[in-house]
Amino acid sequence: MCCFTGLETDRPAGTTLSGGYPFHYAKFITIIEAKNYAGTIEFKPEFNELIQTKEGKQKGIKDPITQVKRQMQHLDFWLRQHHYPSIPLRYFTTISNPTTIIKAPSSYKDALEKVIHVEQINTKLLELDKTKGDVLLNNELMIKIAQQVLAKNETYDKDVLEHYKIERADIITGVCCPECSKPGMKRGYGGWICPVCKKYSDDAHVEAFCEYALLFGSRSTNRQLRAFLGINSREVVAKMMDDLEVKRVGEKKGRVYMLDRLLE
Ligand SMILES: [Zn+2]
Repeated sequence: MCCFTGLETDRPAGTTLSGGYPFHYAKFITIIEAKNYAGTIEFKPEFNELIQTKEGKQKGIKDPITQVKRQMQHLDFWLRQHHYPSIPLRYFTTISNPTTIIKAPSSYKDALEKVIHVEQINTKLLELDKTKGDVLLNNELMIKIAQQVLAKNETYDKDVLEHYKIERADIITGVCCPECSKPGMKRGYGGWICPVCKKYSDDAHVEAFCEYALLFGSRSTNRQLRAFLGINSREVVAKMMDDLEVKRVGEKKGRVYMLDRLLE
């Protein structure tokens, strides 16, 4: 088992490689996202946020699960980029205040299973360690990864837009051509046609949905996806979501698609 904690660059002081475990091998890398919420927190997956109630006041906060999943995406990408074996990644969000009450709808499994009080983390990690899985990292490899990640303080885990100070409006949207990589494929003949190289693709939108999820978070409305793809038809997007078996919550205009599945 190998844990990287506190890798967020706005908390460099907390950057540590978990020292509590005499690790000699690893089946997973676990990212632990520590949060210090007090009061009561209630997850609202349909809005991609949680509501904190403290001293009679309510506040909306970005869902930390989305954040940690994005970190996993970046870490996975980073590992592949550095030619490491494909290592299963796991995560927990720990709440450091022991009196914080955590609430989540029973349908939101990630919140129920992965958001825990910090004192539970040892038990959870030991449980995880007992689960089946091939040992993929030896000590040497783990230390190498840890050194690389920590020494360079790689930015795989940052909120992309925040980090690069990109305004949402500045993002070049549209479906990119799988042949020439240019954005702006046009919808036609039941698929996509590249205005530059004329290549036809019937599934180029899948990559665009993944990009959307990585940039803006994995929950989206039909309208937001239409704007991103540059098409007008609500039905076309609804059909694509159906074909990709994307989960949804809500009805009609309030419907939200959960794009997480596409990032798995
Ligand atoms: Zn092209």
